Amino acid sequence: MAVTKPQVGLVGLGTMGAALALNIAEKGFPIAVWNRTASVTQDFHAGAGTLAPRVVATETLADLVAAMSPPRSIILMVPAGKAVDDMLAQLAPHLQPDDLVIDAGNANFHDTNRRAASGLPFRFMGIGVSGGEEGARHGPAIMAGGQREDWSRMAGVFRAIAAKADDGTPCADHMGEAGAGHFVKAVHNGIEYADMQMISEVYGVMRDGLGMSASQIAPVFARWNEGVLRSYLVEISAAVAGAVDPVTGGPLLDVIVDAAGQKGTGRWTAIEAQNLGTPIPVIEAAVMARNVSSRRGERAAGEALYGPAPQRVDLELDDLEQALIAGKILCYAQGFAMMTAAAGEFGWALDMPAIARVWRAGCIIRSAMLNDMAEALSQDPTRNLMLAPFFADLLRETTPALRRVVAAGALHGLGLPALSGGLAWFDLMRTARGTANMIQGQRDFFGLHGFQRLDGLDHPHGPWAAG
Ligand code: NDP
Repeated sequence: MAVTKPQVGLVGLGTMGAALALNIAEKGFPIAVWNRTASVTQDFHAGAGTLAPRVVATETLADLVAAMSPPRSIILMVPAGKAVDDMLAQLAPHLQPDDLVIDAGNANFHDTNRRAASGLPFRFMGIGVSGGEEGARHGPAIMAGGQREDWSRMAGVFRAIAAKADDGTPCADHMGEAGAGHFVKAVHNGIEYADMQMISEVYGVMRDGLGMSASQIAPVFARWNEGVLRSYLVEISAAVAGAVDPVTGGPLLDVIVDAAGQKGTGRWTAIEAQNLGTPIPVIEAAVMARNVSSRRGERAAGEALYGPAPQRVDLELDDLEQALIAGKILCYAQGFAMMTAAAGEFGWALDMPAIARVWRAGCIIRSAMLNDMAEALSQDPTRNLMLAPFFADLLRETTPALRRVVAAGALHGLGLPALSGGLAWFDLMRTARGTANMIQGQRDFFGLHGFQRLDGLDHPHGPWAAG
């Protein structure tokens, strides 16, 4: 097979880079590759099988650039942070102004904003890639940030390699300028934490509150996966609950330590939400719960001191399904509101329906409900999802069950931070006359911060200010 000189290159043949390079080659695009450790490049080429003729393995960055025809587009798949800055600096002497470097790692979007504004001597984009190694190899979700003309240059490649939604649409799109792609990926990861936490909360109610075994819980998740909750995470929860431990022959779930790991991407989202002043209590609760999960010793001491939580709640399985539906809507409403706030703050034209569409396949949070979210956001991209008629109807239907579940958890000592955080936010958001008038009074009392009056009169301080 004669190889056309590639216009696409890739740096960093680790887990993700190797899978992405094979995916690109498989879709018919010749690709030049380079890795810091040269033997990895050779091994990659040797293992590329029938795709090897489309792969040009290079030993130096100068070779990589020389092996490509301009204008070049080079994807970086190296660890976020210093490695990206180092690679940009090392590539700079070899590249032309019209060449494009694409950081496809999990960069902090502030870094991507900084790099985009730093006057690099070539074009630059930051893209979020979701779906892990399997996604990278066979179809990731791609959230691209940067200038639209650079997206247009790469759209053919990214759409070809991306996962396809049920309607055939590629899950790759331009999210907005500069760090917008990496920002959307961060929010995706925060929502991933929240979806996982809410599923684990209803699992806990089934296990501890209803006394169900893992093998009884598995078919419940499987059934939910046939309905409104159809999603990758509910599907794999059924598989996890149903798995048998080859050592004991009992449920595998029962022998897994209850301390969740994290790489910190959910924490980034929570921190950024605080910076933006936008509430995402479901995601924050999920980050908190992972942190609590790792404190096994303290939790054991707590149980020894206070006794185990009272068992058994009086709930129907339907209540749990409805609560999960409500919690999910509330979580996504918060996530999209956070992106609306970021668009304003950073001057990005974030395409909200496109974000929902891109998440429909290839990524961990893929779910049927994202179709309805894309539809609701198409009608009004900046309206909070809880105010969209379709989701308002669903919330009217499901929040009574969410209340029953949260109340049962509170009464019986089952911690449900994400579900109850979502419900508290919902109740605040549906209350026209809130309670912050008391806070404003207190702030004026001790700090003369002043307040506005409902009647518009000009008396900005309380009587305590007179003295
Ligand atoms: P790996 O550790 O598997 O691979 C890292 C790659 O980067 C290797 O090719 C390594 O080369 C290279 N590298 C490391 N440091 C440097 C450096 N200083 N200069 C040049 N090259 C360097 O990582 P992953 O493939 O898992 O991750 C790559 C990126 O993708 C990260 O940003 C990650 O957060 C992101 N990501 C990962 C996902 C996953 O599921 N793993 C999912 C989505 C994004 P060498 O062989 O010489 O060590």
